[in-house]
Amino acid sequence: MGARYDAAIIGTGPAGLSAAVTLKIRNKSFILFGSSSLSEKVEKAHEINNYLGLPAVTGAGLAKRFDEHLKQMQIEINEDRITGVYAMGDYYSLQSKSNQSYEADTVILATGVNFGRSYEGEEKFLGRGVSYCATCDAPLYKNKKVAIIGFSPKEEAEAEFMSEVAAEVYYIPAYKEQVSLNNKIKVVNDTPVAIEGKIKAQKLVMKNGELDVDGIFILRESVAPSQLVPGLVAENNHVAVNRRMETSLKGCFACGDITGTPYQYIKSAGEGNVAALSAVSYIDEKRRANKQQNK
Ligand SMILES: Cc1cc2nc3c(=O)[nH]c(=O)nc-3n(C[C@H](O)[C@H](O)[C@H](O)COP(=O)(O)OP(=O)(O)OC[C@H]3O[C@@H](n4cnc5c(N)ncnc54)[C@H](O)[C@@H]3O)c2cc1C
Repeated sequence: MGARYDAAIIGTGPAGLSAAVTLKIRNKSFILFGSSSLSEKVEKAHEINNYLGLPAVTGAGLAKRFDEHLKQMQIEINEDRITGVYAMGDYYSLQSKSNQSYEADTVILATGVNFGRSYEGEEKFLGRGVSYCATCDAPLYKNKKVAIIGFSPKEEAEAEFMSEVAAEVYYIPAYKEQVSLNNKIKVVNDTPVAIEGKIKAQKLVMKNGELDVDGIFILRESVAPSQLVPGLVAENNHVAVNRRMETSLKGCFACGDITGTPYQYIKSAGEGNVAALSAVSYIDEKRRANKQQNK
């Protein structure tokens, strides 16, 4: 574990990047998690006509401008995927897919809305046989049977890793691309519907069959906010925020699509700016209070 940052920003779409630029200007230490290709939702847009100052820019063109802005301000992106954010009292602990742990006084959630609907039983059994991170939890399934639902070919590496530990691995691809895995892993082409069990998850129910397993790994691009940050209050499937982009957890802010419609670049960037400024006020206030206490 490294230093404790003033802020951890999760997401490199317009919301997270705008928050990062603002924190940099305000001289705060922060770590920015996301992707070096920034955001699929920016990259894939054909033509954008409502981003102020850049009429008829393509998605790739906008991403390039964002990237140049980061480089000019010497802002780096950490590509580690965040799997859990935990409130520890006066700071946050962040766990990642590569099993690293990070600490920050504040968190800015800017993960967009790619999470889709959860399966029946998923939330009930989360932490009791259901997990979102194979690398983190694989040791718990030594010589056991697991099912892995992968939402992108990238997750095949996780299944390969799991097959070195578990006795049996079933892989259910939730995408159209060709699957390429070692022959220890059984590929099941079916559609998951529900997770069942008593105290722990014991069964993955699919449209055309069932799998009796000890663990079920659901590997999505993004995790629903309330699952990423336990205790966070949601409102109509989005993170509930006030005008300062404060969530229900002290020191935790949210911005962009994750806070609700309209899903727009400029709204996301604007909210990223507000979230960062609110985080700055929170950090400065905390420092003042600590100084006062130590007098
Ligand atoms: C094809 C298309 C065209 C569009 N056209 C327009 C348009 O013309 N005008 C307009 O205003 N809007 C448009 N939109 C909507 C716009 O793309 C979104 O509103 C905007 O991208 C939301 O920004 P965001 O920063 O909230 O999230 P996103 O851009 O979705 O970025 C989220 C980021 O979070 C990262 N992330 C998620 N989870 C994690 C995690 N656990 N750890 C680390 N990183 C994580 C993702 O990798 C991604 O980088 C379009 C969308 C699409 C799909």
